[in-house]
Amino acid sequence: MGDHAMKALLVCEYRQGKLLESTYELLAFAGRLGADKIMLLIGSEAQAPKFQGKVYLADAGVFGEYNPDLHKYLVLDVAQKEKPDYIVFVHSSFGWDLAPRVAAALKAAQVSEIVGVVDGKFEVPSCNAKMRRLLAARTPQAVLTIQAGAFSYQGEARGTPQLERVELAGSTPRVDFIGYEAAEKKAVDLAKAEVIVSAGRGIGKKENVDTIAALARVFKGELGATRPVVDAGWVEHTRQVGSSGQIVAPKLYVACGISGAIQHIAGMKRSDFIVAINKDRDAPIGEVADVLVVADVIQFVHALTARLRK
Ligand SMILES: Cc1cc2nc3c(=O)[nH]c(=O)nc-3n(C[C@H](O)[C@H](O)[C@H](O)COP(=O)(O)OP(=O)(O)OC[C@H]3O[C@@H](n4cnc5c(N)ncnc54)[C@H](O)[C@@H]3O)c2cc1C
Repeated sequence: MGDHAMKALLVCEYRQGKLLESTYELLAFAGRLGADKIMLLIGSEAQAPKFQGKVYLADAGVFGEYNPDLHKYLVLDVAQKEKPDYIVFVHSSFGWDLAPRVAAALKAAQVSEIVGVVDGKFEVPSCNAKMRRLLAARTPQAVLTIQAGAFSYQGEARGTPQLERVELAGSTPRVDFIGYEAAEKKAVDLAKAEVIVSAGRGIGKKENVDTIAALARVFKGELGATRPVVDAGWVEHTRQVGSSGQIVAPKLYVACGISGAIQHIAGMKRSDFIVAINKDRDAPIGEVADVLVVADVIQFVHALTARLRK
C-alpha cells in the first residue's frame, strides 16, 4: 500500500435493534493502524455510534438486520464511494459471513481473526492459538476481521457522527432475512455470578470436574469451562466462557488448568480479580491473572477447598 493516508471502512455490529459494544473495538483497531476512519451502520439513527466522523447509515427497517446479499451490496456501495484501503468487520457470525462475500466481490485479500498489529502487519492466531502468524495483504484493498476482545476501546467512543444515508436502487436479494431465534434457553446465567471457577483441559479428565465444581460451591459461585472441556462433553455448553460462550465479569474468576487463549480471555478479562492455577509459569493466562499459582491444578484445588471449608 502506498504512502497516502490509509483509510478504513468499519462495518458496525448491530443486532436486535442495538449497536453492539464490539463496534468500538473497530475504532480502536483502526487507531492502532493509524488509518482514517469512516463507518457503515446498517441499523437505526437512534443507535448511531459515538464517533466524530462520517457514518453511512442504511436503515435496518428497509434492508433487514442481516441479509447477506443486501448487506454485501451496501458495503460495496460505500466502498465504491470511499475507496478505503481496508474494510473491517468484527470476527463474529456477522463478520464471518459477510467479509468473504465482500472480499470475493472486490477480488481483495482477506485477513481473518486479527489479534494484533505489528509494523502495519496483522497478527493472527494459528495452531489452535499456540502460535501467531504475521500477515500482510498484497492487494490494494483488503478485507479484515478482528477478534472480539483483542482491541480495547477505552476513551475512543465519543463525538457526534455526521450521518449520510445509503439507499440502494434495483438490487434484488436472493435470500430473505426472516428473524432471529434463540438457540436454547440458558440454564445458567454466568453473567450474574460473583465467583466463577472454570475448568480447562489441564484438569486432565472428566472425573476431575467434581473437584473444580466443589471449589465453586465453597465460594457459592458457578462452574465455568473452556471450549475443549465443553467439546469433550465434560461440562455442558451453557457454562462455556469465551468469545463463543458467555462473556462474564465476576468479582473473582479462578482459571483452573486454562492456557489463556484469546477466545477464552475475551470472555473473562473484565473480571475484578483473576486467579490462575497452571503448571506452566509461562502460560499466557499469566498476562491477565492477578495471581498465578504454579502447581498441579487438582492437588492445589483439593488443598484450597479443604482449607476454605475449615
Ligand atoms: C472461533 C473460535 C472460538 C473459540 N471460542 C472459545 C470460547 O468461547 N471459549 C474457550 O475457552 N475457547 C474458545 N476457543 C478455543 C481456544 O482457542 C482454546 O483452544 C481454548 O480456550 C483452550 O482451552 P484450555 O485452556 O482449556 O486448553 P489448553 O490450551 O490445552 O490449555 C491447558 C492448560 O492446562 C495446563 N495444564 C496441563 N496440565 C496441568 C496440571 N496438571 N496442572 C495445572 N495446569 C495444567 C497447561 O499448561 C495449559 O496451559 C475458540 C476457538 C476458536 C477458533
